[in-house]
Amino acid sequence: MAGIETLFTNATLADGSLKDIGVAGGRIVAIEPAGTTPKASATVDIAGALLVPAFVEGHIHLDTSFYGDKWIPHKACTNGFDVHERVAFQAQNMAQAAPIDERARKQLELCVANGSLQMRSHVMVDGSVGLKSLETILKIREEYRDIIDIQLVAFPQNGILKSPGTPELLDEAIALGADLVGGLDPASFDRDLQGHLDVVFGVAEKHGVGVDIHLHDFGSLGAFTVEEICARTAALGMQGRVAISHAYGLGDLDPDSARRIGGKIARAGVSIMTNAPGDHVFPPVALLRGEGVTVFSGSDNIRDSWWPYGDGDMLSRAMMIGYRSGFYTDDELTAAFDVVTTAGAKALGLEGYGIALGAKADFVTLAAEHVPEAVVAVPKPRRVFKEGRLVAENGAVVR
Ligand SMILES: [Zn+2]
Repeated sequence: MAGIETLFTNATLADGSLKDIGVAGGRIVAIEPAGTTPKASATVDIAGALLVPAFVEGHIHLDTSFYGDKWIPHKACTNGFDVHERVAFQAQNMAQAAPIDERARKQLELCVANGSLQMRSHVMVDGSVGLKSLETILKIREEYRDIIDIQLVAFPQNGILKSPGTPELLDEAIALGADLVGGLDPASFDRDLQGHLDVVFGVAEKHGVGVDIHLHDFGSLGAFTVEEICARTAALGMQGRVAISHAYGLGDLDPDSARRIGGKIARAGVSIMTNAPGDHVFPPVALLRGEGVTVFSGSDNIRDSWWPYGDGDMLSRAMMIGYRSGFYTDDELTAAFDVVTTAGAKALGLEGYGIALGAKADFVTLAAEHVPEAVVAVPKPRRVFKEGRLVAENGAVVR
C-alpha cells in the first residue's frame, strides 16, 4: 500500500484479530489482516502482542511528587483526614525537596515508560507559590512535547477565597498557558460554595477553557456540590468541558440517589475522575457508566505529601479500579480498561484517539492475550509508540 512509512506487523487488537497497522505522518493509515499488506520501508514486528491505545493519565501532580527524590516519610493527620493539614504538611515537605523541574522530569518519564502519552496535570497556582510552579512545568511541557501531550490545570491548592490574590492568579495562569481552571472543595475549604464557583467558572468563561475541580467532600455536602457544578456547567453550555476529580461523596449515596445524581451528571456532560483511592468511599464506577457518565482516571499523587503510593502505571490503575469495584467478568474488566483509555480521551477532549484509521499512532504493546487478561496481569515490559515512533521500552524512555 502506497504512502505507509512504518508498518507494524502481527499486532493482536482488542477484538482478538491479528492485524498489520500502517502509519504515515504520525497517523494510522491502514489496518489490514496480518500478512496482507506489502512491506513498508520500516517494519516493526509486534510478534502477536496485544496492541492498545496509549493510556490517558487524567489526573496527576507534576509539581508536588517526590518520585525520584529522597524518600519523604508520610506524616499522618492528627485527627482524621484533613485537607488543610495535608496542605500544610505539603508546604513543609516541598521546602526540602529537589527542584520542581528535576522531579517533574522523573515523574513524566515514569508515566511515558508505562505507556501514558496523554496527561492532565494539576499545578499549584495560589498565594503561596504564585505562578512559579506553573512557569517551570510549562517549560517541562515544551521539553517533552515530542513524546507526551500534556494539559495543565491551574490548581488553587490553598483555596481561592482564603488565599489572597488567587482569583487574579488563576486568570493570569490561563493567559500564561494553563489549559483549564481548577478548584478545591468549594464549601469545606473556602466555606463559600457559590463564591468559589463564581471565580472558577468566571475565569473559564472569560478564556473559553474547561474546568477540573478537586472535590474531596463526603456525604451530602459532596453530592450537593456535584449538583451545583452540574447546574453551572449546563447553564453556561460547557457540557463536555468540566470534570470533577475524586467526588468521594458519590460513593456515600444509596443506589437510587446515586442513579438520580448520575443522570444529572451525564446530562450536564460532566466527567468524573477517580483513582480508586485507599481506605474510603469512591464513586460507583459501573453505576455511573450505566447512567452515561464519563468516568476517567489518573495516578493523582505519586509518592508525595498525600500518600506514599503510586507507580505512574495506568494499567495497574485499571486493575485497582476493577479490584475495588468488584469487577470480575470480562465485560467489567474491559470497562476498567476503558476508564484509563477511551473514556479518559473523551474526558480530556482528545482528538484522534484510538486504534482506528486516521487516529494518531499512539499505542502500547502488552504481553497479554486480550484486554481482560492485561487488566488483571498488568504485564511489563512494554513498547510505547508516539505517532509511530518508539519512545519507551523495557521501562525506560528512549531518546
Ligand atoms: Zn489531585
